[in-house]
Amino acid sequence: MSGSSEVLRDPSVSDHNSGIEAPCSGLVLESVRKTYTSTMALDGVSLCVPRRSIVAVLGPSGSGKSTLLSVIAGLETPDSGRVLWEGEPLDGVPTHRRNFGLMFQDFVLFPHLNVERNVAFGLQMQRLEPEAVGARVRECLEQVGLAGFERRDVGTLSGGEQQRVALARALAPRPRLLMLDEPLGALDRTLREHLLGEIHHILRSTHQTALVVTHDQEEAFGLADRIVILEAGRVLQEGNPQQVYHHPASAAVARFLGFTNLLPGEAAPGGTQTALGLLPLNPPRGTRCMVLLRPDSARLDAQGTFAFDATLIERTFRGPTCILEVEAHGLRLTFEVPSATPLPSQGSPIHLSLDPHAMQILA
Ligand code: ADP
Repeated sequence: MSGSSEVLRDPSVSDHNSGIEAPCSGLVLESVRKTYTSTMALDGVSLCVPRRSIVAVLGPSGSGKSTLLSVIAGLETPDSGRVLWEGEPLDGVPTHRRNFGLMFQDFVLFPHLNVERNVAFGLQMQRLEPEAVGARVRECLEQVGLAGFERRDVGTLSGGEQQRVALARALAPRPRLLMLDEPLGALDRTLREHLLGEIHHILRSTHQTALVVTHDQEEAFGLADRIVILEAGRVLQEGNPQQVYHHPASAAVARFLGFTNLLPGEAAPGGTQTALGLLPLNPPRGTRCMVLLRPDSARLDAQGTFAFDATLIERTFRGPTCILEVEAHGLRLTFEVPSATPLPSQGSPIHLSLDPHAMQILA
């Protein structure tokens, strides 16, 4: 999907009789533009967050993620384009009437309030009876696996527990959309991996419609059903995590996903000519393209379709895999092989071969 103003469809719902997909049922952005003096922060962004789904907007710093959240929350007004919920435009609807929740990276809990009063905080706007507040707080603490923590001082909780209290606080008012801004950014790696699965499970089991914005692909892939890649205020690609990872739409997306083996290519009789040699790939359109060699594509036998000689510059043991940095025809390429693979020593010649499915033509 591009950032055009075409009618948005919910990709998860399709009419099998007609082959036409149903319109998106939750949050829709239609060609949203937002400029700050000379900066185009959002350049015609269209996207859809179907109800009960989790969508991640993945983009580098400065790509427009915070601006996007501000526009959806009603804190910023777009220059043009529309934000809709269930087909109703939200123009002029103030932030507090949108019933959208937000969970920030630095999930600041109120240090002077216990767990119960932190979680109850967002419910106070709803003027509920104290019993109803208490019941909702207990329900949310149960959902995040912290039943019985009501009276605990938040200062006595671990980082992961504090994060779950923040999530319970965000879920308590039953927001129709929960926006999560780099939700795990402030935590250490082990805790992040653990919480990623937990947050995904909690959002799923509560059927929460959610929009995550992050620069971290693990966070996006681990949480979301669908990924929207944003760069310089434009949507570069949209799809499920597997589609985006296995079929990046362009060299820009591939680079952002951390792929480094990108070679300029040119159409040639019998394939695509690159500095590495004639690869058995037909460029789709035009004569020039970029070729991605996926890092897990190399074989150390000659069984692959395309074989080449290289020099092993460096090998780094990573537990289950070993990272190989090789030089071939003036190119530096990186591959990943099972660590049990017998390898020559650093500086030695190495013979590699590639399978065709692991080589991709990019726009
Ligand atoms: P991200 O959240 O992905 O880092 P932002 O939405 O914060 O991206 O910023 C997108 C672009 O808009 C950046 O170039 C940033 O410098 C610019 N920008 C954001 N907010 C403002 C502002 N209030 N005034 C001027 N420029 C801004």
